[in-house]
Amino acid sequence: MNILTTPKALQDYAKSVKRTGETIALVPTMGALHAGHLSLVEAARKSADRVIVSVFVNPMQFGPNEDFAAYPRTFEADAAKLEAAGVDAVFHPAPEAMYPAGYATCVEVTGALTAKLCGAKRPGHFRGVATVVLKLLLLSGADKAFFGQKDAQQVAVLRRMIADLGVATEIIMAPIVREASGLALSSRNAYLSPDERTAALVLSKSLQEAHDVYETGEKRAKVLKEITAVELSKEPLAKIDYVELYSFPDLEEIERIHAPALLAVAVYIGKTRLIDNIILGEEPCC
Ligand code: AMP
Repeated sequence: MNILTTPKALQDYAKSVKRTGETIALVPTMGALHAGHLSLVEAARKSADRVIVSVFVNPMQFGPNEDFAAYPRTFEADAAKLEAAGVDAVFHPAPEAMYPAGYATCVEVTGALTAKLCGAKRPGHFRGVATVVLKLLLLSGADKAFFGQKDAQQVAVLRRMIADLGVATEIIMAPIVREASGLALSSRNAYLSPDERTAALVLSKSLQEAHDVYETGEKRAKVLKEITAVELSKEPLAKIDYVELYSFPDLEEIERIHAPALLAVAVYIGKTRLIDNIILGEEPCC
């Protein structure tokens, strides 16, 4: 497995692959890899000749009071997992390699897609995401790039970006991988104490509750959000950041569900902010 640490090395690697006529799938990550990330790698492996995984804790997508410094960095273990998963190349640059002195360019997806959900709660977050992902797509020449439904708003924003800018990469969304308990796998679960980990089950439980009611025929967005919020508020360690329901992938306000809709929550469990979501009105799918 190739370990690439500079943008130039990634670009050269991609060019050498392209020269042989092979296709490239990219899986962008921030590392601290778990089975959710590895499900993306597996899907990528099935869809392209070569798989590149980036492991980069991107400073541009963290706010000043967020967890950039504390974010888990476990590169050796990550590299071993990726090698075992049959990945061809890992891109693991230092922040200064991605944003050298004089760096001055940002990509901003404007409007409704970034004004709500995590975009409203984390100003500048999607500017950082769009910028780093576009740079990764350009450097890697990826034919396909894989992202998790866990960050569904991210997928909506990136699909808008590549459509608007004429980037040829196909963005593929893979389902959320969960523990048997229902807890969505997340690198940030490492921050949770044992009690908090138990409390965190309330996220998936609340979404499941709303899903079950939806399945009985309840289509009103307000009611489904209320059911989710009531379930979340039963957990004393949980503090709701948002409970929202929008059309997906356009993220437009809806009163009733008649097409795919995203029911998304962000919840503080102690100091740790966790997100989870469910798509109603359509089977979540690649
Ligand atoms: P991160 O390292 O948290 O930036 O995540 C890298 C990619 O893995 C993103 O596309 C995430 O949506 C995806 N991902 C994170 N957690 C999960 C999960 N539990 N299931 C599926 N994909 C995930």
